[in-house]
Amino acid sequence: MESCVLETEEIIPELNHIELERCRRQMMLPDFTLEHQKRLKASTALIAGIGGLGGTAAVYLAAAGIGKMIFAHYGNLTISNMNRQILMKHDWIGKSRVMQGKKTIEEINPDVEVEIYDERTSEDNIDKLLSGVQIAISARPNFHERRILNNACVRQGIPMIEAAMNGMEGYLFNVIPGVTPCLNCLYPEDNPEWEELGFPVLGAVSGMLGCLMSIEAIKILTGYKEPMLNRLLYFDTGRMEFKEFKIYKREDCDICRPLPFSKPQILSGLYVHSC
Ligand SMILES: [Zn+2]
Repeated sequence: MESCVLETEEIIPELNHIELERCRRQMMLPDFTLEHQKRLKASTALIAGIGGLGGTAAVYLAAAGIGKMIFAHYGNLTISNMNRQILMKHDWIGKSRVMQGKKTIEEINPDVEVEIYDERTSEDNIDKLLSGVQIAISARPNFHERRILNNACVRQGIPMIEAAMNGMEGYLFNVIPGVTPCLNCLYPEDNPEWEELGFPVLGAVSGMLGCLMSIEAIKILTGYKEPMLNRLLYFDTGRMEFKEFKIYKREDCDICRPLPFSKPQILSGLYVHSC
């Protein structure tokens, strides 16, 4: 297969001197240029779930200098959230999670714009949540909301980073519409035994996945290095064992088989892919 580069029309923002100094160390990465940094600044990510996974991904996207994030997460903070949700503060218990999430991000990097919705991901709001978004972080603790996000991302050609954990284990893969399998290809049916808040969580494991999600998002948004394509990373931190699996589209997938377009509509600049 031949490699190609998509270029889209976009407004590349300038960076102020504080932003340039903040990202100075990551711009020392081999081949990471000012152009990559500007592409990150021009990008918007939907963080669907700002718990242990999405909250950690948001912290590192903010620290890296993403331009804007949209937080969608319903409900108020509880004490039982605090073993993993590093965007949250103890004195905020009982109050809106998305409000505290926005405050924390603004304290980390005041140059990041944060838009908040104290809502679950639903068929009614998904188009609003994905408006102007170049990448989605799939971090809700149930299949129902993840499927809504997956289906809308595939339909709209928006890349989605998919990750989940259970106890000491986790997995990660990227959904690039038109290129990779989607969530429905891998999980065509819900697990009937899955309970939304009924699984064990060690905060560091969800945080580790959140870090990996942010790395994949930064690569896809900027065109720097190579995102995982058609691969799934699985790990068991109980044994500190990492494995990788090749993943395939399901021929009969109802979601990604009848794609209305032939190429992924990656919005924020360069993205090298097979075409
Ligand atoms: Zn599919």
